[in-house]
Amino acid sequence: MSRKADKAAARLREELAELRRRTAEQEVSERRYRQLAEELRASGEMFRSMADSANDAIMALDERGIVSYINQAGEKLFGQTAEEVIGKSLHETLIPERFRDYSRGAFAARTATGMEGMLGAIREFQALSKNGKEFPVEASISAVRSGERTFYITFCRDITARKQVEEELRESQRRYRDLIENLNDVVFTLDPLGRFSYISPMIGRISHYTAEEIVGQPFTRFIHPDDLTGLLGSFERTLTGDLEPYEFRVLDKDGISFHVRTSSRPLFKNGDLVGLAGVMTDIRRRKQAEEELERYRGNLEDLVEERTKELEGATEGLRRSERYYRSLIRNAGDMIDILNADFTIRWGSPSAGRITGYTPEDIYRKSILDNIHPDDIEPAKAVLDHVLNNPGEPQGTVVRFKHKDGSYHFHEAIVTNLLGDPALKGIVLNTRDITDRVLLDEELRHSERYFRALIENAYDIIAVLSPDGTMGYLSPSLEKVSGFTQEERLGQDAFKFFHPDDLPRVMEAFARGLEQPGFTDRIEYRWQHADGSWHWQEAVATNLLDDPVVRGIVVNARDITDRRLAEERLQRLNQCFLGLGPDPLENIQKLALAGKEMLEAELARYGRMEKGDFYIFSSLHAGEGFMLLEDVEEHLCYYLLSRGAVGPVSTEDIEVRVFEKDPDVREHGFRSCHFHPITVQGESIGCFNLLDKEKREYSQLEVNTLAILSKAISIEEERYASNESLRDFVDIASHELRHPVALLAGFTETLGSHGSEMDKQTRNEIVDAIKQSTARISHMVMGLLNISLVERERFFISKSSGDILLLIERVVSEMRVKVQGREFSVEPAGEIDECEIDPERIHDLLVILLDNAVKYSPEGSEVELTVETAQDEIMVSVLDRGIGVPAEHREKIFERFYQVEEAQYHSKPGLGLGLFLARQIVEGHGGRLWYEPREGGGSAFRFTLPR
Ligand code: ADP
Repeated sequence: MSRKADKAAARLREELAELRRRTAEQEVSERRYRQLAEELRASGEMFRSMADSANDAIMALDERGIVSYINQAGEKLFGQTAEEVIGKSLHETLIPERFRDYSRGAFAARTATGMEGMLGAIREFQALSKNGKEFPVEASISAVRSGERTFYITFCRDITARKQVEEELRESQRRYRDLIENLNDVVFTLDPLGRFSYISPMIGRISHYTAEEIVGQPFTRFIHPDDLTGLLGSFERTLTGDLEPYEFRVLDKDGISFHVRTSSRPLFKNGDLVGLAGVMTDIRRRKQAEEELERYRGNLEDLVEERTKELEGATEGLRRSERYYRSLIRNAGDMIDILNADFTIRWGSPSAGRITGYTPEDIYRKSILDNIHPDDIEPAKAVLDHVLNNPGEPQGTVVRFKHKDGSYHFHEAIVTNLLGDPALKGIVLNTRDITDRVLLDEELRHSERYFRALIENAYDIIAVLSPDGTMGYLSPSLEKVSGFTQEERLGQDAFKFFHPDDLPRVMEAFARGLEQPGFTDRIEYRWQHADGSWHWQEAVATNLLDDPVVRGIVVNARDITDRRLAEERLQRLNQCFLGLGPDPLENIQKLALAGKEMLEAELARYGRMEKGDFYIFSSLHAGEGFMLLEDVEEHLCYYLLSRGAVGPVSTEDIEVRVFEKDPDVREHGFRSCHFHPITVQGESIGCFNLLDKEKREYSQLEVNTLAILSKAISIEEERYASNESLRDFVDIASHELRHPVALLAGFTETLGSHGSEMDKQTRNEIVDAIKQSTARISHMVMGLLNISLVERERFFISKSSGDILLLIERVVSEMRVKVQGREFSVEPAGEIDECEIDPERIHDLLVILLDNAVKYSPEGSEVELTVETAQDEIMVSVLDRGIGVPAEHREKIFERFYQVEEAQYHSKPGLGLGLFLARQIVEGHGGRLWYEPREGGGSAFRFTLPR
């Protein structure tokens, strides 16, 4: 062998040694890479195990709602296996059919707004399990971008139990009827013609209209013209069973429009539509906020557009690369190529042919750049140029290289310029296909991010504890739930933060869990919040110490303070109701004290008016019961009552000057108050009141509790009033009966002992007096009998065609005989037709009215009767020149047992039943009976009868 050849061979050997060294280096980097990948995989798997053992159902969805992941809790919740769900649309598999369109729309609307990274807002919806059962769930949803795609991660939990608690609470509320009047929302009903048939008084607070002004009016009168069409559409939908709330503008009394939200449902009776019942909420404050937000969003829109474009670019690139990967042939091994100075291929190793699929004919004399991905040509050229200028110096690069099947693969190459080497005269390429590695790397990163995102977006706290209770992992929701940051708590002993009373139980459960790998336990306890308060949590802990990727106790905890509170309130409310006894005033005291305790107020008071006196019960002197208060003017309860307040009143509704005058406020320095006036039959007669030293705002739950208590108090007040009127009645009835009975006793006694000595005239007079007394007693007994018939709904009217004028004249002539020294006149206006009447009842009615006219007008004054015919009715009026009825009593005199105050002192006989019966009779005939003050003094009682 020549020396020259020797030298070349030596050179080549040297070069090959160099190549080997490079390869060895590559292997080191490969090992390092593998380690990294291993770590990533472990962390990804840890998160996956955590997701699988989570307490909440977790799902990942794409933008169309197709499920790509569901954890075990999710499979359990929906009763479907992952295989059954994955790849299918959430809307089709897990949502009841009637909500599907809505669900699809709502989901699309949410995904369109882009909400990456944001902790999901919580929504409630109806879900469907495999066996077709519907149940309510609560879900949070958030978007996570992972690799080339955006996922929507949903955390769902079954809230059937919570709904049940709510239902029970509602049930307890139902015990006390008419609660609606105390709600902050307006409750209304519409008749089938769209007229208000009822609206709760709360409307006054938001619209300046009173309920009376609205009832009977068509609802369209109050709607902003622009919103009318939409609203009518919504009502139509309501009638077909769609109970979605609707927002629109209404006009208040001054014509000013504001936003409300109503939800209504159709009312059916025996299958017929009889109207619509709804709830209306004043949302103007919310609307204002929304409008502001809208303005703000305007500015943001440009920004979002920009970002969307960026994103689209990125996605396009990724989609392209996805195509390369898909058809990759996974293969390992090194390739060696030798290039000429113009980058054409001179030689390729057999492994290169095997890996790329090219035969020598395919590539010889072709430029290597021909098969390099267009995007990588420039960098590749730069490397080659660098190598050309630096002979002998190896240079590394990664490019995408097209294989014969058209797919691009990632090639990692080391390029060395050995053109100057006479034996080689070429550029040496040492290449390795690293596509698998790139893909795996991508996948791992993806899965790690994916599962980390699942955990970190949970609104449960997820924690991993070591066997000694040290907190090794804490999800970011910790901060939301407990006020602490992850950093503040990581590495600390979890047991330090449990309530001392709960700690033994918790530790015992923990110890039990430690003994059994895979063991799961559920426990409730109090945990300390950053603000020092104790919050109730519910946790599910799973022993995953044996799981090599977790090696800890995985705890899913959630805050259940609100739920506990609601349950406790419910229990206390029920206890309080069960503890009520027969005495209404005592019950009111109990209810007031229960309110103080339940709402943790510092002082509870209840002030009530009775016969012009003001009584106060205060939790400060609970033992003393109700006390009569002399100096009433400055007492806030009296102040509000005397102003006729009906709805709840709080601190900001009262002038400071007035507030500070209250004797308890002065003495104890209260700064916050809440008042609930109590009304009985439309009249404010009491006021329930809580006071606090700290400024305080009541939550919705608290306001509702207060409303229930107030309703209970008003029912006790009603009971008290009806007991009271019963007592009054017994007093009056015994007084009324005593008189004729005493007369009877006296006269019969006289007749018995002296009858034989009397002359005929005296005897006749006495017998007449006895007859009168028995007539009076039997009149009273008949009255009571009729009342009892009315009460039992057995008071019937049997009508036949009759001459009312004739009847009136008969009664009047009877009156003339019965009442001496009084004038009665009857004035018919024109022809009076016959009408359908029950002559006996109408007779009673006329007697009642005429008796009263006589009773309540001065001796010698005339009693007049007028009869008129109107279009389709006859109107009869009984007119006197007596004392009349003061305005405030004009409706009440028609109530059972009601007498105007002077009558109660009993200058006149009577039971307070006459007018009550009179109205029953008139209404039984389909007419009306009412009182009018008579011009020139006296009373006019008028009634109508249909013709
Ligand atoms: P009573 O048996 O007390 O008369 P009613 O029901 O007939 O009971 O009447 C109720 C109350 O209405 C009476 O107590 C009286 O105060 C008032 N009242 C009834 N009729 C008249 C009248 N014509 N003038 C003035 N007051 C009347």
